[in-house]
Amino acid sequence: MQEVKKDIRALSKEELRTFFESIGDKTFRGNQVYEWLWNKGAHNFEEMTNLSKETRKHLTDHFVINHIQVDQIQKSADGTIKNAVKLHDDLIVESVLIPTKSRTTACVSSQVGCSLDCKFCATAKLKRMRNLNPDEIYDQVVAIDRESRLYFNKPLSNIVFMGMGEPLMNYNNVLKAIEKITSPEGLGMSPKRITVSTSGVPKMIKKLADDEVKFKLAVSLHSAIQETRISIMPFAENFTLIDLKEALQYWYAKTKSRISYEYVVWKDINDGQKDIDALVQFCSYVPCKVNLIEYNPIGEEAFKQASTKTIDKYIEALEHRGIPVTVRRSRGKDIDAACGQLANKQ
Ligand code: SAH
Repeated sequence: MQEVKKDIRALSKEELRTFFESIGDKTFRGNQVYEWLWNKGAHNFEEMTNLSKETRKHLTDHFVINHIQVDQIQKSADGTIKNAVKLHDDLIVESVLIPTKSRTTACVSSQVGCSLDCKFCATAKLKRMRNLNPDEIYDQVVAIDRESRLYFNKPLSNIVFMGMGEPLMNYNNVLKAIEKITSPEGLGMSPKRITVSTSGVPKMIKKLADDEVKFKLAVSLHSAIQETRISIMPFAENFTLIDLKEALQYWYAKTKSRISYEYVVWKDINDGQKDIDALVQFCSYVPCKVNLIEYNPIGEEAFKQASTKTIDKYIEALEHRGIPVTVRRSRGKDIDAACGQLANKQ
């Protein structure tokens, strides 16, 4: 039977060193290969020119490098770029490069499809689902960093885990990817420039705090009233606001890092005074800021962006209590690259 070749990037540096030792080679070859894989982004073993021909052949015979392929690039009128990324098993995820005057941000995916069921999100409608491996997440960032340099003459400055999937339902792989992104052998980016966005999985938020992560946390709140939240995010029945509040307090006590709440205001869903009052109340639990996101229609009749007047009421109420609030304009809507629109339409 033919040996199934292993993805070499599933091996840690230590495992690579041990591998070389086991075949009677020098352990430092492990460091060299590790550098090729992660720092230099090698797509095949032939590129590893400081290894002998025999070593390269040995690696080719036993391993593969399952690199992602950017299958299609779409450009929006506002400069946003969307990559359709093909994985080794032909599944597709999407990632987005969002340029502004001062920064370029990568919005990356953590799952194919999503584990959760937010009614307003296009990704939630995809059936097929698997977690992305650490290297598949890392590769998306590398691809966008290259595009940032190519099209905007500057390296990528920020990363948000706001693409497809729920990052905290793929906890270990997301953390491993971030470890590579921030390590000097990877991209050497500061964790302060990385934001992980979750729809609010209390147990995992506590785990992040216990693991003393250094990146920022955003929570997609959308309603601070339990029944309303369940009606638009049905999983919230199990991940209640009471548990979420407790997890966030735990997070803040351990990390001292302010939380961002993402919040869309929809007509007839969460546009009343009681919704505003509930949000203001929820914001009193831990230091935070609120990001009011514009709704990106996904063809669901029930969801319509609330009026500007209602948004202004939200802003006024939050500012009155000293809670920082920003309004996030949609980017890349014309190519279905905006928040909640990623669903591989191609
Ligand atoms: N699962 C994670 C990250 C992916 S979604 C999370 O829920 O946070 C990234 C953000 O887009 C979330 O805040 C999500 O609630 C929001 N979003 C989803 N669908 C949207 C839509 N149609 N319009 C605007 N924002 C949307």
